[in-house]
Amino acid sequence: DPGGNVRVVVRVRAFLPREREKNTKCLIEMNPDTQETTLFAPNSHERAETPTAGFAKAASRRANLEDRSFTFDNSFWSHQREDAHYAHQEEVYNTLGEDFLDHNFEGYHTCIFAYGQTGSGKSYTMMGTPSEPGLIPRTCEDLFQRIEAAQSETPNIAYNVRVSYFEVYNEHVRDLLVPVVSNQPPYYLKIRESPTEGPYVKDLTEAPVRSLDDILRKMQMGDRSRTVASTKMNDTSSRSHAVFTILLRQIHHDMETDETTERSSRIRLVDLAGSERAKSTEATGQRLREGSNINKSLTTLGRVIAALADPKHQNPKSKNGKRRGAGADVVPYRDSILTWLLKDSLGGNSKTAMIACIAPGDYDETLSTLRYADQAKRIRTRAVVNQDSMS
Ligand code: ADP
Ligand code: MG
Repeated sequence: DPGGNVRVVVRVRAFLPREREKNTKCLIEMNPDTQETTLFAPNSHERAETPTAGFAKAASRRANLEDRSFTFDNSFWSHQREDAHYAHQEEVYNTLGEDFLDHNFEGYHTCIFAYGQTGSGKSYTMMGTPSEPGLIPRTCEDLFQRIEAAQSETPNIAYNVRVSYFEVYNEHVRDLLVPVVSNQPPYYLKIRESPTEGPYVKDLTEAPVRSLDDILRKMQMGDRSRTVASTKMNDTSSRSHAVFTILLRQIHHDMETDETTERSSRIRLVDLAGSERAKSTEATGQRLREGSNINKSLTTLGRVIAALADPKHQNPKSKNGKRRGAGADVVPYRDSILTWLLKDSLGGNSKTAMIACIAPGDYDETLSTLRYADQAKRIRTRAVVNQDSMS
């Protein structure tokens, strides 16, 4: 399906120790049969005082007007490990990551991005921990397993893998694969646009990697670089967007026809800044200037998603077959660094998924995330197989 919709999934995390201490109520239920996610108002009568299995109340029994139900492609219940339908990291990978890697081997570009407020589980889902690896390390592992298996069976395919890792902070792009030199100001890269490839980061490191060890080392190096800067600059990691990209080239030589074809695909895995920044209004002074810029990429992302989800954009011809007035379906990609760089992933040649991460006890932020996700469901992208004959 070349004109597929953005795949949207939601994941709710466990209580953090401080939430448990405060006896926070779980406001989320997920129905594993229908994939329906319900958010209960804090004063809702339907919600039990102590959350148990966390699902199975019919929406029709909803008593409170502020209770909200949404249906996504998948609802991952990662709130209580004891529950039968608890979604481990492995399940998230098997449900989403594996399918997307299949697409990459077919020659499609893909993008998976995690959205949600700070502390909702974006980094846990994308990167994970050493003992509970997330989507990025699992994708790397599966990628090299598949390459090794294919190489032993079909010697006429050559594989080439490169990796890049950058972050967008305060409308600046920083290469995470360049070691941070202490006492040196960070070095920012520029964006360029090529007629064939679209927007790209000029001089970004694209490191060749030959094994799982190689790629995991790059991943860890980039992560460390992100952390070093973030402790220096007052928790930038919750305010920066991290973009991990794997470039996969498959060069196939047909022995009979002596023809060589090349498939190239891009695997983009994005850990977005905390979504609460997009609407925080209390900031002042330096923080405000910084904040308004940080907001810029995230608020623009919101506008881009709204524009792409608009039925007028989906169907740009009016009833009488004429195109609507000029400018009516302009998507504001170029208004921020992040949306400019992710243009293709958001509305073009890519199969794309959004993981909406939610905290279990925060009504307002969760409602805003679920609404955002609901809008993203309506976006259609146009992915094509990226294949060239090279004879
Ligand atoms: P974010 O990146 O959205 O700011 P994190 O991924 O850092 O949030 O998650 C916040 C905290 O919650 C971390 O301590 C993380 O380990 C924990 N956490 C998040 N999701 C889960 C989950 N599904 N299961 C267990 N712990 C989780
Ligand atoms: Mg994070």
